[in-house]
Amino acid sequence: MTDSKTLSANIPTLYIVPTPIGNLSDITQRAIEVLTEVDLIAAEDTRHTGKLLSYFNIHTKTFALHDHNEQQKAQVLVEKILQGHSIALVSDAGTPLISDPGYHLVHQCRQAGVRVVPLPGACAVITALSASGLPSDRFCFEGFLPAKSKARVDKLNSIAKHSHTSIFYESTHRILDSLQDMLHVLGSEREVVLARELTKTFETIQGLPLGELIEWVKLDQNRTKGEMVVLVHGYRETSQNEIPAEAIRLLTLLAKELPLKKAAAITAEMHNLKKNALYKWGLESL
Ligand code: SAM
Repeated sequence: MTDSKTLSANIPTLYIVPTPIGNLSDITQRAIEVLTEVDLIAAEDTRHTGKLLSYFNIHTKTFALHDHNEQQKAQVLVEKILQGHSIALVSDAGTPLISDPGYHLVHQCRQAGVRVVPLPGACAVITALSASGLPSDRFCFEGFLPAKSKARVDKLNSIAKHSHTSIFYESTHRILDSLQDMLHVLGSEREVVLARELTKTFETIQGLPLGELIEWVKLDQNRTKGEMVVLVHGYRETSQNEIPAEAIRLLTLLAKELPLKKAAAITAEMHNLKKNALYKWGLESL
């Protein structure tokens, strides 16, 4: 433990405060303290945030800061902070600025020399990645895919050969169209994880080769409902794009019992594939 005082006295500060993405118990002690002690809370939707504040018995005044007024209102808030007020920024859920308002305010604060203090906390992209089983050493958060199919396909083409994990936010009414466009651009064998309703009652995290994932989603309408994150395995040169899922399963099983070379040779024989490609895939992925 280092610092017991929540607000730093006499230093004009903007606090960036994440709020829960579903489960209210995910708010941090520090977030509650900051929201209670600041002079003003800048909120994406004051009514929505009002409900959260009343749940935690917080009575701090709120101020609307959303996509449509942020550029213009940010200056007002910067001036308030410079006059000695402390302000917390929240969005409807999760971490402000992550596909949410706040960028202009933070930028203007830093330009004006105002201290910006970020609190760690809930964020759907990190929550999803941590449980996805996909490589997490390198990843790129791509925000929401475009709503129109042509722009979406262009976007998917631009990330198709990225070797790191790509992560998208998606909405309930577009999820199937987006997965179909992914199938078209990335192929049926690309591994994709759908993480929906994180931290909530119907939390579901399903990872499958894309073709199978689409079939799985179609089996139950509820699987298209709620809030969701889509995570796409990075492209691999000798990858699941070229090696059928069945062959990968066999190779993975055999490699648990046999040297990789032998496992690759048997799989190559059974599936009529090149053993070198399987061996290389095994070295990179198992
Ligand atoms: N700032 C938020 C964050 O830190 O994650 C994201 C806000 S963005 C407007 C909302 C999108 O985040 C949703 O459409 C969904 O893609 C994703 N999201 C938010 N909460 C989620 C949850 N509980 N489960 C899955 N995805 C979620």
